[in-house]
Amino acid sequence: MAVLPYIGETIWGFTATQLGTIGMLGAETVEFLHGTSGARLLHIRNDDQELGCNIIFRTPQKDETDANHVLEHLILSSCRKYPSRDIFFDMDSKSYSTFMNGLTDNAYTSYPLCTQSQEQLIKLMDVFLCCMESPDFLRERNFFLREGVRFELESPEGPLTLQGTVLSEDWGHLTDLQENADSFTAKTLYPGMEASNLLGRAHLHYRELNYEQVQAAFYRNYRYSNCLIVLYGNMEYKRILEFLHKRHLSARQADPGQRRIRLLHPRAGTRTQEMHLPKPRLQGYSHGTGGSYRLRHRPVPQHPGGAGILGFICRSDGSRRLPLAQICQGTGT
Ligand SMILES: [Zn+2]
Repeated sequence: MAVLPYIGETIWGFTATQLGTIGMLGAETVEFLHGTSGARLLHIRNDDQELGCNIIFRTPQKDETDANHVLEHLILSSCRKYPSRDIFFDMDSKSYSTFMNGLTDNAYTSYPLCTQSQEQLIKLMDVFLCCMESPDFLRERNFFLREGVRFELESPEGPLTLQGTVLSEDWGHLTDLQENADSFTAKTLYPGMEASNLLGRAHLHYRELNYEQVQAAFYRNYRYSNCLIVLYGNMEYKRILEFLHKRHLSARQADPGQRRIRLLHPRAGTRTQEMHLPKPRLQGYSHGTGGSYRLRHRPVPQHPGGAGILGFICRSDGSRRLPLAQICQGTGT
């Protein structure tokens, strides 16, 4: 295995800032900062032949329209260098990947991928990063209509229906008691703060969701100074750093504002709140699990948007994901 750097050593624009270990993975770790772009990189090095990469952006929820989730779908649709109808499914079916996905959480959006080939890893990273730098949805509104929200009329006499991939996914959350409890808990503990806005709520707020808002979320968050790249496994990491530096990072200037971390303090005290979840009525019969619950909680100081950033790496069968490292982050300005 390649020799790891010493603290302060710079390799292809990346300076090693911290060394560590993760015992349960038999891994040594190196944290890098790319000086030009401001990107951070965590290399988790062990003897696993399953190679992983996760590209993670801090994306606190400004509201509950699920704009970050729509954006995740749009990022993986098409880009200038790799035009496609749906590049994610092209990559999934035409590469030697063992796992790939896009995952939106309350405070971050991550794009993990795994393969046993280092060359495939570099190729797939190139597609992901090009999509994050120059996505085609910025030039083609129809991607938003497909993935976000649109009205559809199948026949002149037919009903006008609401459609959209993310909107459909969010409808599935409507009667989930646990998710509603999470949302009401966040509302109770962090009123008026970004941490109270949870994802998966577009079915309640689709009227406020629009194309321009998703574009704004892209320009606000998808910068390398707001990005953590996790590399996992037994790879020639210097080769990956060279690829990242030459092809993507060296031409991008860091945004110093996005390195600042603010710690927000919620209003102190104990709060009690009672919420009711109505039973939905579907085509004449009662269905689902309505319920109510009472909350009594004391809030703790919170990074805006929560912010556990996880490196998800899958096992060789591609079916299990392990949270490898949790790094507390705040949001930018
Ligand atoms: Zn989705």
